[in-house]
Amino acid sequence: MGKLDGRVILVTGAARGQGAAEARLFAAEGARVVLTDVLDDQGEALAAELGRDAAAYVHLDVGTEDGWTAAVAAAKDAFGRIDGLVNNAGVLRVNELVDTPLAEFEAVVRVNQVGAFLGMRAVAPELMAAGGGTIVNTASYVALSGMTFLTAYAATKAAVVGMTRVAAMELAGRNIRVNAMCPGAVDTAMTNPALLDPDTDPAEVAEAADGLYRKVVPLARIGRPEEVARLALFLSCEDSSYITGQPFVIDGGWLAGVSVL
Ligand code: NAD
Repeated sequence: MGKLDGRVILVTGAARGQGAAEARLFAAEGARVVLTDVLDDQGEALAAELGRDAAAYVHLDVGTEDGWTAAVAAAKDAFGRIDGLVNNAGVLRVNELVDTPLAEFEAVVRVNQVGAFLGMRAVAPELMAAGGGTIVNTASYVALSGMTFLTAYAATKAAVVGMTRVAAMELAGRNIRVNAMCPGAVDTAMTNPALLDPDTDPAEVAEAADGLYRKVVPLARIGRPEEVARLALFLSCEDSSYITGQPFVIDGGWLAGVSVL
């Protein structure tokens, strides 16, 4: 018996990183997963690997209303209904406040904040029709604490936590639970862009970053996408049946405080 047997769950940004780890784990736990992303080749390849009975890939730019309408229709075509959503797609831009162009700020808002809003708004009616369900939003530890050079990103992730609380209250009566994950640093292309650059050695970049995480993270390492996927699973299955409206920090202890060890 899997923890998600019979459930149909749509995951955004599922072509790589944490979204891909979530899609893999959910499929292994018996869900049928609708993988969505703008990276179509990678998304299609992962869906094919998981198998047609367990997974379907649909192109979706989360910042577009039409995209959501089409993705929800395609998910229902593939598996008949939707009873879970993981809003995972996100982008990071690193810039000092005074140097951040408005267009850059708005681009981050469009994906991280508007994307999560449109996703909840498009999928909630489907969850109601299915008799209930779960929504897991992906915020960040910078939703709860500041970090230099992340004005736009931190703003959007705080907004995701705010929307999570409101949606949880509004949807509780329809048997829909809404929670947010607040990961610290996780080992994906977002934290190690060298993974995407053939001219850089990802291991070298990871080693430099390692020194930083050893200093500031009590558990002394970066997180793994699979570890965040296990939190997404917990929040998407019956194990969390009495939990809604909460941000869950998963950061190796980074936010616990200042350590002098
Ligand atoms: P990633 O860059 O590997 O994955 C992000 C995914 O989102 C990619 O597949 C990308 O194609 C997709 N995406 C980007 N823009 C999109 C759009 N407009 N429409 C649809 N898909 C889009 O990074 P990740 O670490 O796996 O990030 C997953 C989530 O976790 C993001 O919301 C990110 O902000 C959040 N997060 C990451 C970290 C970290 O340290 N990696 C920490 C806290 C929170």
